[in-house]
Amino acid sequence: MLEHDVVIVGGGLAGCRAALELCRQVPEINLALVAKTHPIRSHSVAAQGGIAATLKNVDDQDSWEAHAFDTVKGSDYLADQDAVALLAQEAPEVVIDLEHLGVLFSRLPDGRIAQRAFGGHSHNRTCYAADKTGHAILHELYNNLGRYGVTIYEEWYVLRLIVEDQEAKGIVMYHLLDGAVQVLRAKAVMFATGGYGRTFNTTSNDFASTGDGLAMAAQAGIPLEDMEFVQFHPTGLYPAGVLISEAVRGEGAYLINSEGERFMSTYAPSRMELAPRDITSRAIATEIRQGRGIRLDGRVGGPFVYLDLRHMGEAKIMSRVPFCWEEAHRLAGVDAVHEPIPVRPTVHYSMGGIPVNTDGQVRSGSEGLIAGFFAAGECACVSVHGANRLGSNSLLECVVYGRRTGAAIAQLLPARKLPAINEAQYLQEAHQMLQELLDQEGDRRIHTVRQQFQDTLTEHCGVFRTQALMEQGLAQIHQLRQELTQIRLDDKGKLWNTEITEALELRSLMTVGEVILTGALHRRESRGAHSREDYPQRDDSQFLKHTLAYVSAAGIDVQYLAVNLSLFEPQERKY
Ligand SMILES: Cc1cc2nc3c(=O)[nH]c(=O)nc-3n(C[C@H](O)[C@H](O)[C@H](O)COP(=O)(O)OP(=O)(O)OC[C@H]3O[C@@H](n4cnc5c(N)ncnc54)[C@H](O)[C@@H]3O)c2cc1C
Repeated sequence: MLEHDVVIVGGGLAGCRAALELCRQVPEINLALVAKTHPIRSHSVAAQGGIAATLKNVDDQDSWEAHAFDTVKGSDYLADQDAVALLAQEAPEVVIDLEHLGVLFSRLPDGRIAQRAFGGHSHNRTCYAADKTGHAILHELYNNLGRYGVTIYEEWYVLRLIVEDQEAKGIVMYHLLDGAVQVLRAKAVMFATGGYGRTFNTTSNDFASTGDGLAMAAQAGIPLEDMEFVQFHPTGLYPAGVLISEAVRGEGAYLINSEGERFMSTYAPSRMELAPRDITSRAIATEIRQGRGIRLDGRVGGPFVYLDLRHMGEAKIMSRVPFCWEEAHRLAGVDAVHEPIPVRPTVHYSMGGIPVNTDGQVRSGSEGLIAGFFAAGECACVSVHGANRLGSNSLLECVVYGRRTGAAIAQLLPARKLPAINEAQYLQEAHQMLQELLDQEGDRRIHTVRQQFQDTLTEHCGVFRTQALMEQGLAQIHQLRQELTQIRLDDKGKLWNTEITEALELRSLMTVGEVILTGALHRRESRGAHSREDYPQRDDSQFLKHTLAYVSAAGIDVQYLAVNLSLFEPQERKY
């Protein structure tokens, strides 16, 4: 059995930042980081637009209180305000620390870190490295881990979280290279496994964003929080769905419908293109529904609108958002200096996740914690985003809460012993599960079942939702679940068997998708990204509370958790 003081699952920004903090605070630590991808291929590397912090380099009127207020208002008042306060207060310090690590932020002429406008933020506070911010940060963090001697298990797929008697003891993992299975025990386990964009058919997310960590936690009896809040980013490139960063609108681009109108004047006159994402995505979806979308041949009534950069000029486009120009050029054949880019909403971010407190400790329910289990980043829900995340707050969450979680684990370590684990039993169960998968005799293919599942969730739990639509969606997912046992794998080998991991990821997707739909069905109101046509108003009297969904063989049980409202009174949300 493998043994480490701490194991972190996930090599994105949250996992790497937590690892760095542990190495700084406990230099002699025996730390492992496991990732199913190479760490620098984690989805964090694709983050484009930037990271928010009130450095006041561009706007000296900014303050952490303003950042906190924008975040809480953006969240439609569902965010936990104690967690938001920490996020905003610690932001300048973590960004300066990144800069000291060597992250190449874009600069003002006087050499200080540049800051741009972003949706829902009332001041220019987003720090950036052109439109490759995630790349710049993740590479620096990862390089630093090498210096501290962290053991990296790259391209190991974690199959199972070991929880016994409300205590996390370790993980079971599978080596993609040769099919080896190992049990790893540790004094503390941390998940930083990222999001689940691949539950939908159109997403900006990486192929690896399949919600495995969420599914493993759920399977271990841990509730998932606020999973119905799925962020649709307004500007996915049509038709690929890849992201055209909000930084493009931050730098001044317009959204235009088939009439040539800047239609955001109807939906958010004071913020226009820089309204929060839920509002902007609904605006685009409404324009398209009402026949003011555009078709590829330029005629009206099509499935996208235009993002128009032309007035910004070539010099600004190429210096501030060069990667977005390149994406549009490479994937849609559009030269954004001279032509508008076709865009429509794309699934982008998971506001919900594994419930944690502000030290990253995982909750076992509305009261109580799972001993030795931590989570941070997109897979966690400390609830700084509530019902809708503001752009550039997620990278920030990863570094602020990655650091806090690393520090909390460092505090706890002296009091924890390596737990006892029945290794033979866990190995036997894992081998049996894998063998059963290889031996399945059906005639269904992974990709067709996955496609049907992704289409179902997209159609039945998209930007606009209704009870009837979601009930049909759930019934279809229950049907598709049966088909999981009829999937046939062609590759029966051990070496680099990608069919096995795809089949396992499909199971994760289905678990997560069912929780999203169930939470959405129970939440009979519209708040942030969750928009119900049958309940169009926010209902604070009944639903100003977090959803906690428990998965079991008997089905999904929905309970609730109070929201922390320590800073601001809920108000009507207008822009
Ligand atoms: C295209 C794009 C652009 C974005 N731009 C911005 C931006 O400009 N600003 C901003 O604030 N946010 C942005 N976001 C959001 C932000 O990038 C993410 O929320 C954040 O990077 C998530 O980091 P993470 O560390 O939580 O997870 P990730 O970076 O997704 O990493 C997850 C890790 O978990 C590992 N893993 C998962 N499952 C398993 C398993 N079963 N076994 C082993 N390992 C596993 C993966 O291999 C990976 O290493 C963007 C997101 C996208 C998709």
